[in-house]
Amino acid sequence: MTKKMNIQDLIRPTIKALKPYSSARDEFQGVPADMVFLDANENPFENGVNRYPDPQQGTLKALLSEIKGITSKKILLGNGSDEVLDLIFRAFCEPNQDNVIILPPTYGMYEVLANLNAVDIIKVDLDNTFQPKVNEILNAANANSKILFLCSPNNPTANSFESSKIEKLITEFKGLVVIDEAYIDFSNEASWLSRLNEFPNLVVTQTLSKAYAMAGIRLGICYASAEIISVLNTIKPPYNINELTQKKAIELLSIKDLASNQISDILKERTKLMAELKNITFISKIYPSDANFILAKVDDANKRYNQLIEKGIVIRNRTTQVGCENCLRFTVGTYDENEKLIKTLLLISKS
Ligand SMILES: *Cc1c(COP(=O)(O)O)cnc(C)c1O
Repeated sequence: MTKKMNIQDLIRPTIKALKPYSSARDEFQGVPADMVFLDANENPFENGVNRYPDPQQGTLKALLSEIKGITSKKILLGNGSDEVLDLIFRAFCEPNQDNVIILPPTYGMYEVLANLNAVDIIKVDLDNTFQPKVNEILNAANANSKILFLCSPNNPTANSFESSKIEKLITEFKGLVVIDEAYIDFSNEASWLSRLNEFPNLVVTQTLSKAYAMAGIRLGICYASAEIISVLNTIKPPYNINELTQKKAIELLSIKDLASNQISDILKERTKLMAELKNITFISKIYPSDANFILAKVDDANKRYNQLIEKGIVIRNRTTQVGCENCLRFTVGTYDENEKLIKTLLLISKS
């Protein structure tokens, strides 16, 4: 089902009128290897990084395009997902006028970026099973609601949202729906990437920071219609993905089965950790996980958090988040790290 929605109407007038900076590398591309480059004021002595990187990241996008089955025209890369999300704010949300809808408890960056861009936030808390309240969300939206953020699997709750709820939201919300799939590779649910063509207002973000083990290189990925991607391309900093990042991503993404083997190891560890957390007496509830972390409710989150710190283990205390009172978030580590965590939790519970 396709719906009529004019993306052009959602773009900020300032952005529509913008003429992008044209870099030296933008103006001359698709070159034979023996060309002499005297156009960008670079230092000519080769060291692997003396040249500006490819502003459109052609090789890396071609590889992602092959892995994900999506044409490069529908891919935008950012310096982490944070940059991708910031570009979306800046393209679509008029400061001091527009608003975005977020569903707490969720990833903190949506709120930070909204504040940074002077964009109002409408919060509609998830229900007590951490699912979106679809009708409340649609009722809360108004003519200035430009973006609805759906984080699925959600951080910090670890669950995925029901696909029928997501579909209804994409279909009925009058702005962009950004589905943050940072944890999709740990999930049993299908990615919404395969349905991009059906929904002109759908934006899917992913990252190399979690399942792909490259948090250090900062590579966030945005998939959307060619129309949306071209707007974001107009406003992105010309050389936003540096040469080292592009090279490392290409290197590691090219190793067959590397990520999928690590993901299956992490999922095995998650299952084991889930079972072992059940033996900890001060844990009263373990939430289902579709991600590489587990949310658990304890008797006293601050006390348990500090006890773990004293024993040299750092986890995330989520007790101040709505709906997460006395909840701790445990990232699934290596076999050894998880053993240490369980041993320590047992020790603490007996002290
Ligand atoms: C970790 C995480 C990201 C990743 O952000 P990067 O900037 O790409 O490292 C995005 N969204 C959510 C919900 C996350 O938990």
